[in-house]
Amino acid sequence: MGTVWIPGAVRLGDGTIGGPMDTPELPPRVVWHTTESGAGNAAFDAVGAYLIRQGSEPHLLYDPTTDRLGQFGPLDRSARALRNDGESRTNRTGRVCVQIEVLARASKPFTGYWSPGPNLRAIMAAARSWGVPDVWAGRERSRTDWRGKGGHFGHAHVPGNDHWDPGAIDPAALFAAAGGRAAADRPGERTHLRSVVSLARVLAAARTDPAAAQGAALHRADVLPVEKALAAEGLLAAQWADGSFGTRTVAAYAAWQRRCGFGGADADGLPGRTTLERLGKAHGFQVTA
Ligand SMILES: [Zn+2]
Repeated sequence: MGTVWIPGAVRLGDGTIGGPMDTPELPPRVVWHTTESGAGNAAFDAVGAYLIRQGSEPHLLYDPTTDRLGQFGPLDRSARALRNDGESRTNRTGRVCVQIEVLARASKPFTGYWSPGPNLRAIMAAARSWGVPDVWAGRERSRTDWRGKGGHFGHAHVPGNDHWDPGAIDPAALFAAAGGRAAADRPGERTHLRSVVSLARVLAAARTDPAAAQGAALHRADVLPVEKALAAEGLLAAQWADGSFGTRTVAAYAAWQRRCGFGGADADGLPGRTTLERLGKAHGFQVTA
């Protein structure tokens, strides 16, 4: 049994929002929403009351600027912020389907400016207590992924729904801010990789290594922490974390860029400062010029 009521969350409403899950045999998940509103205490109170009036309560209401947290209902029962997918009641899919409305807008991803604190860590600890893995599982409203994968989804990834929230939030920032278990469970990811990586050297390696002999490594010491981080993200097989920025690493880095919200020519597998810094922040290396 996981956490049902998060300690420290303010109770909102009468605490009865949903019912039992339809498919408790399916993996546990979290769904992130944005309220498409401003933040701050006035917005928190107004949006909380509005969601109750509408009967579209999530489990949790979170202010990313103040770390304030409210809870409408128990995490082991359903919330009401999703539309059904035909006959399938998306609110009731999975062991748990913890829904979080963040006082933010999809057009300005909140992980870019937020100030997460103890309540964000409490949210993530509660999700983990139900077995939700630190994985961003959401993808293109895929029914297969929605039913089959545990982890974190955006409202934009739930089949049968047409909203685009929460926007391009940064999963790595989310999991890093959560602290705790992730670092302990995945040794090497943060503990052994505290190093400094040169953007210019990594970029030079990404431009040179793929065309050179197999395994050639122009800047092994800089590339290795990047590859280990990509491997920890599940984007690169561990055997290719060898210090050579070859074609597989380029493909893995392109996948990381897409995960960060970039597309087209901006997701070409050649590292840029924004994506490399995000990767470093989540996996314990610093980026220099
Ligand atoms: Zn939503």
